Amino acid sequence: MDYKEIISSCYCGDGGEKLKKAEALVKAFGRGLSLDAGIQKQLLVVQDAVLALDTHMTAMEMGKTCTTCAATSKGGCCSAYMGHENNDALLLLMNLLAGVDVKLVRDDAIECCFLAETGCILLFKPIFCLNYLCSRIQTESSEKQLSLLEQKSGALLTAQGQLEQSIIVFLQSQGEMLEE
Ligand code: SF4
Ligand code: SF4
Repeated sequence: MDYKEIISSCYCGDGGEKLKKAEALVKAFGRGLSLDAGIQKQLLVVQDAVLALDTHMTAMEMGKTCTTCAATSKGGCCSAYMGHENNDALLLLMNLLAGVDVKLVRDDAIECCFLAETGCILLFKPIFCLNYLCSRIQTESSEKQLSLLEQKSGALLTAQGQLEQSIIVFLQSQGEMLEE
């Protein structure tokens, strides 16, 4: 399989299939990825951006708002569809490289397969999840809080995107080596 097929296959399947793909990539390329100084440096940049966003979300008390919302009959926004469709194997690979114990924590066709009792188990979340700003959060937050939230989410999305690109370039180089 050349690298283009490897990359395109990362976006196919449900959450479980994408996780299996990510685990296969770790098995095949994990050592090389962990020895790549650029990728390791980028992983740290993304982790710092996650921490900055999490700190701000905690200060906004978003956890409390979401817990209350999730307890309503309608439930929160982390649906089964989100877990299956908005994820991809490269994102799950990044989580595995960062040491996250990625696994399917539920399979009830209602909530996201990565949503544990304590919240999302992923350190690096899908773009859609990072960009989602519901009306409840908008109503209950100040303009300053929302502006900072947008700024920190944007920084994280940029860093995550750069890490993804670095991994794609790495996989491309491996493909070229295999063809030589
Ligand atoms: S982000 Fe909004 S819709 Fe989703 S759980 Fe939190 S309050 Fe509810
Ligand atoms: S934030 Fe996490 S738990 Fe919620 S939908 Fe996204 S991946 Fe699933």
